[in-house]
Amino acid sequence: MTSPSYNALPPEVETPSADLPKSDMIMGIDLGTTYSCVAIVEDDFPKVIPSRKGQRTTPSIVALDDKGRLLIGEEAKKQLLINPTNTIYGAKRFIGRHFYSDEVGALSRYFSYTVVPIGDMAVGAQVGDRIFSLPQVSAMILNELRKNVCEYLKKNISQAVVSVPAYYTENQREAVREAGRIAGIDVIRIINEPTAAALAYGLNKDYERKILVYDLGGGTFDASVLELFENVFKVLATGGDTFLGGVDFDERAVQYILSEYERAEGQILQCDSVITQRLKDAAERAKIELSSKSSAQIDLPYITIAQGKFKDFRAELSQEDFNAMTEDLVDRTIEVCVEVLDAAGMQPEDVESVILVGGQTRMPLVVDKVSRFFAKQPTKGVHPDEVVACGAALMAHSLVSQSSVRLIDVLPMSIGGRQPNGGFKTFFPANCSLPAEHEIGVATVHDGQQAIEVFLYQGESDQALENEFLGAFVVTGFPKSPKGQVRLAVNMSLDQESILEVTARTLSTGQPMHVQMVANAPAVAENLDLEPLEPVLAPVQAPVQAPVRPASPAAEKRRYSGLRGFIRRISE
Ligand code: AMP
Repeated sequence: MTSPSYNALPPEVETPSADLPKSDMIMGIDLGTTYSCVAIVEDDFPKVIPSRKGQRTTPSIVALDDKGRLLIGEEAKKQLLINPTNTIYGAKRFIGRHFYSDEVGALSRYFSYTVVPIGDMAVGAQVGDRIFSLPQVSAMILNELRKNVCEYLKKNISQAVVSVPAYYTENQREAVREAGRIAGIDVIRIINEPTAAALAYGLNKDYERKILVYDLGGGTFDASVLELFENVFKVLATGGDTFLGGVDFDERAVQYILSEYERAEGQILQCDSVITQRLKDAAERAKIELSSKSSAQIDLPYITIAQGKFKDFRAELSQEDFNAMTEDLVDRTIEVCVEVLDAAGMQPEDVESVILVGGQTRMPLVVDKVSRFFAKQPTKGVHPDEVVACGAALMAHSLVSQSSVRLIDVLPMSIGGRQPNGGFKTFFPANCSLPAEHEIGVATVHDGQQAIEVFLYQGESDQALENEFLGAFVVTGFPKSPKGQVRLAVNMSLDQESILEVTARTLSTGQPMHVQMVANAPAVAENLDLEPLEPVLAPVQAPVQAPVRPASPAAEKRRYSGLRGFIRRISE
């Protein structure tokens, strides 16, 4: 196995020429599950920058060919069918997750390449004799998109606004920032995909309305309700299903092929990774065809060998049958819409426009069910594959031009701390508006205790360990005293991008304490030669919403000069 560096681009990856003059533009990047897209704003309009070969989107795929050469994007996609185990796709679904999490266990079944742990928790993708970290894989895609823009502008562009799904946890967002660093791209801002879509739909249009962004992509679904007024884009609620997307529709067609094969041949089709990939590919092609035709022909010549003879598979699938096979999947998206509307205190008829995002929304059944549920046709004129990149580019442009766009997002999943009994104490509830602030009171629980450690998690379980571990902060600087005598107010604030800042002070005198942020709390406790101690958590006050600050490019820059980890600024 080659000795790896997980936080740099592989040496053979070509980066934009350093001789190019520097551009002060900021590109907008939609780092997608299946395809990625990049746009810039020219003459106040977003423009998608195609690849050298004229493709407006780039497959989010990295592969090693049989000679060990590294392939990225279009080239990598070409070999997916013949060399699936050496082709990394769907990295967006793994990035920033813990290797031993249930999600990674469940996701691994979808992919033909091998997923391995890197260090304690990170996920790595193994192809041939090489292992890449997920941020590295995403960095290669980002670099590919950047090269397209550099070539188009004949300038070196190195700043980007990158979109992520609204439901991404803080760890996932940080992993995307890490991908930017690896690619040498300064990620000025992370923007939620539905917010980007809303920007592309409504920026500078004087809209005053409530809209719903329905995003059904390759692997995931999310729905967000936004309120638009005077170039303010306020997310009212967001929700989704991270295990519902185009691949689930493909899987139904794969099951159909397998059952038809068994019916015709009287035996089941034995699948290796190449046959499985061919089935998935045929299923997806039939699905896409059925979005514009009433039936699709599925042809799989030489699909297997039986009694020394090649076997072909051929079948017809009608749109009607495919709709019946997948109706429950579309119904699940509608259930999510109901939940999201409920969280926003709205009824379907309160939604004035519905915006469809993601390739799977081209399925007529999706359009039909969405139209019926909302009693209106979805908005035409936004391109489901490009709208997010265009919105990210518009956001980027507004940062450069310091225009008055304001994004008010919500936290997709609750953030809280672990209590001494293992319970989860919510500090910031899901769907609270960002920025937000919360203060807790903590006290020492041991005589002579010199540090108070707060372990942070994100999720909705009332058991901390069932949620995702984010990191911790350790408060020190108070004198040794009998237990309970040190009483501190710990103030936590989440900014627009949900980056946490923590300050602490004594409740009696207001004297500031030292706060250290750590990604791995027990390790720090070891370094400090401390028992990991847990505080008594008692809210001092309910979460309060901080006033919305318009972000200036300078403030954005400062934010990114801090610590690694989602918790990046330390305050004393
Ligand atoms: P995205 O993540 O937005 O790129 O969406 C990719 C998903 O959209 C994949 O599952 C594709 O199979 C699916 N898709 C693309 N085009 C169509 C189409 N015309 N009809 C149905 N699904 C499609």
